[in-house]
Amino acid sequence: NAESFDAIVLGAGAAGMMCAATAGGRGKRVLLVDHADEPGKKILISGGGRCNFTNIHIAADRYISGNPHFAKSALGRYTPQDFLGLVERYGIAWHEKTLGQLFCDGSARQIVEMMVQECVKAGVTAMLARTVSAISHRDGRFVVMIGGREYTAPALVLATGGPSIPKLGATGFAYDVARQFGLSIVHPRPALVPLTLGPDEALFRSLSGVSADVEVRWEKARFREAALFTHRGLSGPAMLQISSYWQHRTPIYVNFLPGSETGWTIQEKQAQPRATLKRILAGRLPARLADTLTERLGLEGDLGNLPDKVLRAAEAQLTGWAFTPTGTEGFAKAEVTAGGISTNGLSSRTMMAARVPGLYAIGEAVDVTGWLGGYNFQWAWASGRAAGEAV
Ligand code: FAD
Repeated sequence: NAESFDAIVLGAGAAGMMCAATAGGRGKRVLLVDHADEPGKKILISGGGRCNFTNIHIAADRYISGNPHFAKSALGRYTPQDFLGLVERYGIAWHEKTLGQLFCDGSARQIVEMMVQECVKAGVTAMLARTVSAISHRDGRFVVMIGGREYTAPALVLATGGPSIPKLGATGFAYDVARQFGLSIVHPRPALVPLTLGPDEALFRSLSGVSADVEVRWEKARFREAALFTHRGLSGPAMLQISSYWQHRTPIYVNFLPGSETGWTIQEKQAQPRATLKRILAGRLPARLADTLTERLGLEGDLGNLPDKVLRAAEAQLTGWAFTPTGTEGFAKAEVTAGGISTNGLSSRTMMAARVPGLYAIGEAVDVTGWLGGYNFQWAWASGRAAGEAV
């Protein structure tokens, strides 16, 4: 004797809770299932515990996807202002940090509690700490086996996220189910993740803990934010951002002097010929970084003794320093997963699979990956909303 619902949502994270609350609010009987013992664990640890829940500069070109237009529809119909309206209705205090990033003043737990409350209000049935053992489809209904019992619904929503941070219970479960129903998967890879440097660049690894404002480029992608050297390589917002675009065995280019005018070293040479390159760099960069860069350039003497041509070449290197990362720190350290369930088979309006009526995929499980800074949660809310309105 199966228990029947109008929709079963797998995964009680950001996207799943938004979807369940939206569908429940429309009078649908919704079952929300998670293998974790509490909902929204990634929300709890997000934004350093304060949850960067959205970004006011949301735009589809700040998302990476096999189809760069896919995210537009959902993002356009559920905006940062819509989510902010919800946050304010719950009286949650918030602030804008930098670059349009909105954070809770208090704790990320407030966002989880808000979403749980939305689900409760919408009459959603939640089942936590439960394992899905099998999923099948018969007579137009999805049949989900949980603890030896069958739960059925004409709509099944995959909201179990991607495999980033497996120690929080993240899995590739959504991909397995998607494959079972014939959907294709864009190769999943770690994104918003620190990059590792090899022995050739070991000198930079000794700068562990040093950070600097840089501009980093990979092909057409560029970000001006802080970079942080670590004992394994490169991190900080600038490097996390570029990691989502970076492809193996290719260099990234770092401008250590963003905003500096060309020829400034030659002007410095004229003004203070007895100064060293190291000293003038240390006026613009952390001293240890200035040390390492001059050591790598091999330009130790007084500026007065360095020909203009050499200084011009040094500037060119300092504004386009090539690093070829050996890899990334992997899913264990990745804030998100790039790739995932291909958007080719999904409706951008409803998130439903064109060839499997009633099957939906939302949030990080889908091949849509946002920039750092609240973009990924906004995608989770917006795609969850789109599916919740459609089931
Ligand atoms: P998730 O939130 O990952 O939810 C998936 C749910 O599915 C989980 O509850 C999980 O337990 C459940 N699940 C998984 N497998 C199964 C299974 N087999 N059976 C049943 N349930 C399952 N984004 C931002 O926009 N701003 C931030 O500040 C931010 N900070 C972050 C900080 C860290 C450290 C990390 C790791 C990520 C951060 N992100 C941030 C990214 C953001 O957390 C994700 O993009 C977002 O949580 C994706 O939402 P989702 O609902 O698709 O997936």
